[in-house]
Amino acid sequence: MNTISQNLKNAKEKLPQDVVLVAVSKTKPDEDIMEAYSAGQRVFGENKVQEMTDKAQRLPSDIDWHMIGHLQRNKVKYIAPFVSLIHAVDSLKLLKEINKEAKKNERNIACLLQVKIAEEESKFGMEIEEVTKLLNSNEFRAMKNISVKGFMGMATFTNNEQQIRNEFRFLKNQFGLFSQKFPSLKVLSMGMSGDYEIAIQEGSNMLRIGSAIFGERNAP
Ligand SMILES: *Cc1c(COP(=O)(O)O)cnc(C)c1O
Repeated sequence: MNTISQNLKNAKEKLPQDVVLVAVSKTKPDEDIMEAYSAGQRVFGENKVQEMTDKAQRLPSDIDWHMIGHLQRNKVKYIAPFVSLIHAVDSLKLLKEINKEAKKNERNIACLLQVKIAEEESKFGMEIEEVTKLLNSNEFRAMKNISVKGFMGMATFTNNEQQIRNEFRFLKNQFGLFSQKFPSLKVLSMGMSGDYEIAIQEGSNMLRIGSAIFGERNAP
């Protein structure tokens, strides 16, 4: 068996049934994606609009493309026709733009709100107060072409497992509280190659795994 499908199999064996695995294929060539595809993988994550759009045009149409990276408003239009889930929505403005482009395409686009859980300043995401404000706003309620399905979070890049665990636990708790009031919140996207085992223990139900499946990337 080749490496990618073996890695995929190894990762999947560790996952509970109800956890969705997003294979993060950014920077990787079509052949690598097709290797995972042949092993049964259908959900792929990319972080660049141009790269995802190009790959979606070339590769099988039954792939679910997830945009996992920071998304600029002026680029939403390129992915609106086909994207299956947008993970990193971090403002009402962006959500409005997605709604607008989804409407043009006569679609409803599923989104996750990225919540800032890491200490690092560099990480994107909304503070909990902002999430509360957004979900309770009239503007949000008026949008008919998007569905906010849950939250996404990235833990601090650190060897301190307890810190990672605490950050994931915080998000899981918030997710639990919010989903009581907003029952459409079902997805909790947290966990990458380095921390997905902790993420599962802390209640993640969607993992975004790149290097543990496809090998190390040259470019970030
Ligand atoms: C690249 C990336 C991942 C996957 O990272 P790995 O460490 O390779 O598993 C997950 N989430 C986001 C947002 C990413 O940009």
